[in-house]
Amino acid sequence: MSNRTFTMIKPDAMKNGHAGAILDRIIKEGYRIVALKQTKLSAEKAGEFYAVHAARPFYGELVEFMSSGIIIAAILEKENAVASFRTLIGATDPAKADEGTIRKLYATSLGENAVHGSDSDENAEIEGNFFFSGLEKF
Ligand code: ADP
Ligand code: MG
Repeated sequence: MSNRTFTMIKPDAMKNGHAGAILDRIIKEGYRIVALKQTKLSAEKAGEFYAVHAARPFYGELVEFMSSGIIIAAILEKENAVASFRTLIGATDPAKADEGTIRKLYATSLGENAVHGSDSDENAEIEGNFFFSGLEKF
């Protein structure tokens, strides 16, 4: 187990002014920041990041949304990071997310759901490397 996961604060949460509260929560929950940057995905790069969902009906909407504004990308470290972070962010649909989870608190809708969290150690590694070089991870 790598004990690392990858997250993004998505354009809705950035525009709605929740980035500070979300980062504060992540740090207070005991995650160590391995890498962090503010950036903006082109439609092409967003499409590449979410290529696994290319056949899904919401893919076009997802790519448009994820390239619509600035994001924050980060690699986080904590014991059992992938699973614990998925618990912290809550269900994909904020209407179904548990009370107190980041998506329950800050997400707008099923599509615009405030944060990304990797779903496996393998994908955490791939997604972290999508945004960060070795010189940016500490
Ligand atoms: P998660 O982000 O919880 O791992 P998925 O990997 O299933 O969820 O989907 C990736 C992202 O695609 C979601 O976070 C959400 O932004 C968007 N999405 C998922 N399902 C839908 C849907 N039915 N309609 C619109 N957007 C969706
Ligand atoms: Mg996913």
